[in-house]
Amino acid sequence: MASGNPFETSLKTLHEAAELGHINKEVVRLLEQPKRQFEFTIPVRMDDGHLEIFTAFRVHYCDALGQIKNGVRVVPNMDMDTAKALGFWMTIKHAVGGIPAGGGKGGIKADPSKLSRREYEALIRGFIRRLPMKGAWVDVPGADIGTHGATQAWMLDELEEIQGFHSPAAINDKPIEANGTELSREATGHGVFYVTRETLKDLGFPKGCKFALQGFGNVGRVAGELLQDAGYKLVAVSDIFGGIENQDGIDIYELGKYADTHNHSVKGFPGCKEIGTSDLLEVECDFLLPAAVQSVIHEGNADKVKAKLIIECANGPTTPEAEKILEKRGVIIMPDVLCNCGSAIVCGFERTQGLTDTYWDRETVRANLEERIVKAYHQTVDMAKELNVSYRDAAWIHALKKIEKAMLIRGWAWEEE
Ligand code: NAD
Repeated sequence: MASGNPFETSLKTLHEAAELGHINKEVVRLLEQPKRQFEFTIPVRMDDGHLEIFTAFRVHYCDALGQIKNGVRVVPNMDMDTAKALGFWMTIKHAVGGIPAGGGKGGIKADPSKLSRREYEALIRGFIRRLPMKGAWVDVPGADIGTHGATQAWMLDELEEIQGFHSPAAINDKPIEANGTELSREATGHGVFYVTRETLKDLGFPKGCKFALQGFGNVGRVAGELLQDAGYKLVAVSDIFGGIENQDGIDIYELGKYADTHNHSVKGFPGCKEIGTSDLLEVECDFLLPAAVQSVIHEGNADKVKAKLIIECANGPTTPEAEKILEKRGVIIMPDVLCNCGSAIVCGFERTQGLTDTYWDRETVRANLEERIVKAYHQTVDMAKELNVSYRDAAWIHALKKIEKAMLIRGWAWEEE
């Protein structure tokens, strides 16, 4: 199975977890493909007067647990396979995180950097106009690569103009001023921190132990700050431009100020040794947070990883081949579907707030996120112990069992004799 294709990798994990967890075969068959998928066009009158026709995709992967929810990606290489893979992942993440929602994903094949503000707004509004099924109880689009608070506010505005009434629960990742939620941007970093804190406690890692961070963006920086605040020592960071290492410790807040004024990069931060982007994965440390992109830990470098614990912050940072090597070496992996489901959880809260027209303060959102993700962590760990399986298989089995129950009770699949 090719490790480079995220959908193939997810199917492989599905089959492995389903066998270990004795999941109903009809449920597995239903999860091998999306429930429905749409491909549609969005015509946009460009600033120079010509008509451009963009292609858009939306996948409703599985809605056994609730309405479809999740991101819209605007990138030049967007396609249906990407939407399928990401929609599947979201299905599992919602089940892991205890959110009563189905998984979906979509996007537009376009390069936002080549569009004027007016063209981009027209494209995003066109996406909502042409999206075949929409609304708080059907499909709630959120942000992803190429989309952000402003695009989500345009989506909401367009939908409300079409419907003729307000509908804040129908779009996610909105700015606070457009009925959004507190902690929207920092949700995943917070979730990563709670899972890491619990793991370190349970595995007996002492306070002050060392960690390394690949990716200094939305997820990595927030998680790193919370870990430093909790007493753990940051010794190396890298981003797409390069990396830095100092085994005596790096102050993440000083590093943040530096990156804010140096092209959002950590490269060149004073008092550190320069390292390469991927050298970071091999530095001396107790635990490692890959928070950049997928497949960075692979067959070629898995035996050089010195950390004893990997917290998967990005989606799929460890290839299946690397996972086998690491497992043999006794390196523990906390899986992506658990570690980074914080934003899926807070998006669930955002919809709940919109539906009830009651907006929570930051502490309420934070405390609810902590409670939900710590529970998901314990459910995963308990499942791993009960079945003697890896944490990745345990998280998937835990999710699949929830989906299985919903499918059986709805009559989508029949009990096996
Ligand atoms: P971001 O764009 O804010 O930051 C990404 C960071 O990774 C940047 O520092 C960038 O320089 C670095 N980077 C990019 N390519 C790299 C490479 N090839 N090697 C090393 N570093 C590289 O992204 P983010 O929101 O922090 O998300 C990080 C990862 O987590 C992504 O894979 C994303 O899909 C995943 N994720 C994010 C969320 C979320 O809520 N933001 C939720 C789930 C999963």
